[in-house]
Amino acid sequence: MENMENAGDEISSLRKMIAEYERLYRVENAPAISDAEYDRLLRRLRDLEDAHPEFYSADSPTQKVGDDASSGFEKRAHLSKMLSLDNAFSFEDLKEFDERLRKAIGSSKSLKYVVEPKIDGAGISAVYENGRLSRLLTRGNGSVGDDITRNASVIKNLPFELKGDNIPEILEVRGEAFMANSEFDKFRARQEAEFAKSEQAQFEGQEDEKSPKKLRLYANPRNLAAGTLKLLDKEILAERSLLANFYSIGKIEGAEILFQSGLAKFLKSLGLPSVNWYAIAFGIGEAYQKICELDKERGTFDFNTDGAVVKLDDMSLYSLAGWTSKFPRWATAWKYKPARAKVRIYDITLQVGRTGAITPVAELEDAQKEGERLPVLLSGTNVSRATLHNFDEIARKDIRIGDVAEIEKAGEIIPDVVRILPECRKENSESYAAPKYCPKCGSSLVRNAGEAVLRCINPECPEQMRRRIVHFASRSCMDIDGLGDAVVSQLASLGILKNFADIYSLNADDLYKIKNFKQKSAENLLLAIQDSKKRDLWRLIFGLGIPYVGERAAKDFALAFKSLDSFMNADMKALSDISGVGERIIFSVLQFFKSGENLRIINRLRESGLNFKAEEASQSAVFGGKIFVLTGTLSSMGRSDAKRLIESYGGRVGSGVSKSTDFLISASESSSKLDRARELGVKILSEDEFLAMLKEAEVSAGFGVKSDEKPKIAKKENSFLQNSSGQMSLFDF
Ligand SMILES: [Zn+2]
Repeated sequence: MENMENAGDEISSLRKMIAEYERLYRVENAPAISDAEYDRLLRRLRDLEDAHPEFYSADSPTQKVGDDASSGFEKRAHLSKMLSLDNAFSFEDLKEFDERLRKAIGSSKSLKYVVEPKIDGAGISAVYENGRLSRLLTRGNGSVGDDITRNASVIKNLPFELKGDNIPEILEVRGEAFMANSEFDKFRARQEAEFAKSEQAQFEGQEDEKSPKKLRLYANPRNLAAGTLKLLDKEILAERSLLANFYSIGKIEGAEILFQSGLAKFLKSLGLPSVNWYAIAFGIGEAYQKICELDKERGTFDFNTDGAVVKLDDMSLYSLAGWTSKFPRWATAWKYKPARAKVRIYDITLQVGRTGAITPVAELEDAQKEGERLPVLLSGTNVSRATLHNFDEIARKDIRIGDVAEIEKAGEIIPDVVRILPECRKENSESYAAPKYCPKCGSSLVRNAGEAVLRCINPECPEQMRRRIVHFASRSCMDIDGLGDAVVSQLASLGILKNFADIYSLNADDLYKIKNFKQKSAENLLLAIQDSKKRDLWRLIFGLGIPYVGERAAKDFALAFKSLDSFMNADMKALSDISGVGERIIFSVLQFFKSGENLRIINRLRESGLNFKAEEASQSAVFGGKIFVLTGTLSSMGRSDAKRLIESYGGRVGSGVSKSTDFLISASESSSKLDRARELGVKILSEDEFLAMLKEAEVSAGFGVKSDEKPKIAKKENSFLQNSSGQMSLFDF
């Protein structure tokens, strides 16, 4: 039994750690640990919380349901809730599931189960009305998903019309959209070819520069599938190809399906793709056997499976079995252990990021062939490096140079060092000491309070400057096509590019100094640089590379301050008025604009004629000048997001209902505000009505995708690492 105090401490430190990893993943698109490691931490936290309910907190990461909502897509409610499944990691977990279920339905006999593969894809829900596909939604938060119907054609085996004589009037089917492994291999080959092209110009002797890019080059098929469903760019969409597999029914009218074991056949009779592999098991012991059989076979499937699903066969018992707040009680998901391999860590190298963060990377070789520096083969790919994330992780796992370690790959292409094998440790091995000096410029490294990372804070660190220029020109910022890592590296080492303001002084002669650079490329690059001057203000703010200011914060600032100058002049008070902007960001912004060097660079950007102003907020007829008040909790977005949206269309948000209130957005059955609104005759909007108004304003303002600008969604390496379950608001267009 764990000591109470220790458990409390561990719970609170796990919560902090998980929240920070989630933030890095979601907000900064810089995952610091693998999904598998994240799951392990979350599971540890859940176990501790279960054992110590006295530490319950509604803010715990275990209490939050993931959400894949993103911008550019309309929100729609599912006809019936789309729940996820609870996980089983051991036979004990399975037995507990079986016992709970038998108790709930009052059965003392063995239950009949169906076991099927759990495809590692993105959850989708398709609704057919009288046989026609009427909408396709993502899982979203389980109640409301993104309407991705316009992208349905990317799922090649998804029928727009059902077939057969047994077509239900309404059919809501749930499944996974995924990219077949063979398709993913082709995709990776294309990416590699692109990578090789940009690599051609790479300098010799900068071999370590390839690695960070390579580490982020590939996504896993799951993230790629999730990103593909949300593509706004038809051209990119046309190059992709996904498949779907349906495994359950949400709502059905005009037909009846009684047994899970008959579902696949039923769906196939309608022309819907469904599982080809399933097994029937009597009792949980037999279900476990089937899970093991499936484990042997799943390697031959053309898609990734991360587990098996065990479902009660008799669907008439589902309502009796019931649901918890998050999961149905009649099904559970078995998680297979990811593939592992033994490696020797022959070195730990260091990378310097654009904000000076130092990332340790393990250099790996096949443990069987010590000293030969051969990569190890793990689930079909050669692995020679793994990120160690940060120095706390190294200390936590006591990773040392020369150690033999187990690495694993869950869904990811990037492997994770799971554990060190102490029995293989050499006698003379020493603990790894975190570096004191920047490997690139030699200045002392600093660790900020509350942070896991070590940073080089030398503003003139050449590596940071190079990375900052790359970031500024990247697709997610100023989007200067042709100014990638390789070109920036060359121009930086020639002394032509010292900071990103220098980009706008580049001329053709400078560009001809780049190895193998053709005239046409130089012309195109100069045009792209000119073109980038018109970019939206938020792109410029993001591109400045202010520490902790990610894309989301940059958009918030652009919206709130309307111009770079008012943003630069904003004081503590003005910055803290923006919801969602924390102390750390505020401090970082204030620091950034205190630096004479930064101000000098910004002035040069101004002189080069870059756009420093946000586009005027689109006054919408429905929102302009109107006063809104909110009551209750909206299911589709947070209060601050709703506020921002209303304000972005020229409306205002008041705190209490008065005679001057135009609308009360009510997401609660009863509240004093609701009573007051009725009394005063204020128009009351339901959440759906509010969403419809937003939609209308969005259309009339031409919001979302602007005609002169291609949507920037997941084309390049890094964006694939975006979290598919990241909670983003409608506002994040
Ligand atoms: Zn440095």
